[in-house]
Amino acid sequence: MAETSHWIQDMNERSLSDKSLDLGRPRGNNSQRPLVLFDVDGTLVNTGGMGSQALSLAFWELYEIEDALDGIRLHGKTDGAIIREIFRQHGVHWTTIARDEVLAVYLEHLRQEAKDSSLGSVCPGILPLLEELHGRDDCAIGLLTGNIERGAEVKLRAFGLWRYFSFGAYGSDRLKRSDLVEVAVLRAREMVGWDFVPGATFVVGDTPADIQAARNNDCFALAVATGGYTRGELQRCKPDWLFSDLGDLPKVLDVLGLPGSPREAGAGIGAREASKGRA
Ligand SMILES: [Mg+2]
Repeated sequence: MAETSHWIQDMNERSLSDKSLDLGRPRGNNSQRPLVLFDVDGTLVNTGGMGSQALSLAFWELYEIEDALDGIRLHGKTDGAIIREIFRQHGVHWTTIARDEVLAVYLEHLRQEAKDSSLGSVCPGILPLLEELHGRDDCAIGLLTGNIERGAEVKLRAFGLWRYFSFGAYGSDRLKRSDLVEVAVLRAREMVGWDFVPGATFVVGDTPADIQAARNNDCFALAVATGGYTRGELQRCKPDWLFSDLGDLPKVLDVLGLPGSPREAGAGIGAREASKGRA
């Protein structure tokens, strides 16, 4: 029987392979408008564990595996990679059909969990930052997340952030986070119509995997310690910039190479020191 995956697209179905990117383009090309790609968990929102709870419930419902995520570090991984790891750890035979079944049940539970978002919160400074960047015509913002697309949508809708994003690359596109950057840049080109390049692309994330994804694609890594890693842990991965949070809007705009705007005046909420990772 031919399998049709609703949740993770077969990589061969994608039409990205015939396009090429200037992956070796020098950094900091000011002639390029910046593309800012945001991770979701720990960067835009802390969901209060709704994702891990939903996935845990899915494995219980389908396989009667209790606490399926115990011993598995989730940070920075794609949903597909996490599920594969759980299958392996519990000796369950992995197939794409089984994976998609888990993801379907996971989404059902995630939608339930998201009805009460009171345990989670939007990360500091994110709302004014997204409001600012979304309203500008000299940059573009997108998502770069290990969540499958529908999972990202559920989580971000729960916190009122989905409306800021018109494109992204998701765990439903690739198994490895590093491979998502190319997808995001191509989608940005298609959606916005500008010639974005990795050398003017900023990957904003809270884990070493986000930093590595930026590094592997010659993008800028903007790390923020609002998720599962401390400043010290992130600093050791040598991001281009490291923030405690993204509350200092003028500083973030400066890092992105964007001139300030009148909106900044009332948006300096929770400003924190930013440090240049490669000083
Ligand atoms: Mg994250």
